[in-house]
Amino acid sequence: MELMDVYFDNNATTRVLPEVVAAMLPYCTDFYGNPSSIHRFGSDVGRKIAEARAQVAALLGAADPVEVLFTSCGTEGDNAAIRGMLEARPDKRHIVTTKVEHPAVLGLCQHLEKKGYRVTWLDVDKDGALDLAELSTALSGDTALVSIMWANNETGVIFPIEKIAELVRSQGIPLHVDAVQAAGKIPINVSALPVDLLTISGHKFHAPKGVGALYVRRGISFPPFIIGGHQERNRRAGTENVAGIVGIGQAAEIALNRIAADSEHERQLRDRLEALLLATCPESRINGRNQERLPNTLNISFRYLEGESMLVLLDQQGICASTGSACTAGSAEPSHVLRAMDLPADWLQGAVRFSLSRFNSEAEVNYVNEKVPAIVQRLQGLSALGRLGSQGRPRDERSVAGTR
Ligand code: PLP
Repeated sequence: MELMDVYFDNNATTRVLPEVVAAMLPYCTDFYGNPSSIHRFGSDVGRKIAEARAQVAALLGAADPVEVLFTSCGTEGDNAAIRGMLEARPDKRHIVTTKVEHPAVLGLCQHLEKKGYRVTWLDVDKDGALDLAELSTALSGDTALVSIMWANNETGVIFPIEKIAELVRSQGIPLHVDAVQAAGKIPINVSALPVDLLTISGHKFHAPKGVGALYVRRGISFPPFIIGGHQERNRRAGTENVAGIVGIGQAAEIALNRIAADSEHERQLRDRLEALLLATCPESRINGRNQERLPNTLNISFRYLEGESMLVLLDQQGICASTGSACTAGSAEPSHVLRAMDLPADWLQGAVRFSLSRFNSEAEVNYVNEKVPAIVQRLQGLSALGRLGSQGRPRDERSVAGTR
């Protein structure tokens, strides 16, 4: 069988749509004015930014485009939201978040913990689900904010944001939602949801890298994260990434129009891949299977394997996948998300994430299913030899007990 190029790593980043490139191009060439300038070179560009703001507001269901401010990425949005809320409520020293957040939230909250904030890290169960009673108990008069992701980047597990938002709002506490993986994949309507801040990132839905957006509900006091000029109504200083902003606007409009069709297409492919791999690879399991998940995401563990070795062999066959968060690629650390789900040690290292987009096809799914079983068999064979080790019994039987 001929080699195919299969890109199944769309939760890491996506291909930029040709329509998005076309919309951006004039803003790299002819329309080079600074949007803050009074003259027409500036005002033409300023109008285009306003259009992009309205496009992103429509994707999020924001009542007013001024509730959207542009950032450089999801990480900036998450940092700006959390730090902004802490600065706005200096008397409060407590943050509530989960153990399965992306490092953009997780790493910041760990940092803030070292600086003296108290952080409640909410657990998830074996399926990756949150316990809302635990959330409710965690909230107190000292809580400055709650930050919870909408959809998990590794497993695709979707948290019940409506219920979370109602619970948090009932206590008068601001809620920030990291919707970086949700945007463009599932419908978002912040007008109908008591969420105060919400982060998205363009490169996850076919806009370029280097541009994101943060929704800040009207009336929320939001000190600027980057201080300087008056851009973004004094909430984020710095001359705008005009072409990037035009790109995220265009991608948002396309995503909004195609969300139902694209997610159905991706769900069908993902379900097919999932069923095929479970049937052809005996020691395999789906992580987060019993939860509502993003339609494009499949996180599958192959027992006794090293996910990293699997990725190298997949790559040799032209298949691009991931072990989870792109940010942890290259480190052999097991995923903090799967650890929080209490995955047994013999399944933990062998997790592979396949994440699809509208560009993927059934032929690619079939191709991946042709290649994966042989790779898994080969690696499981090597691993069995290793596990027999010098003591004549499988190594995992010794290690599992200690690390579960
Ligand atoms: N939050 C989540 C859930 C993500 O998946 C990512 C990126 O993978 C980020 C935040 C960070 O986004 P960015 O890469 O745009 O900084």
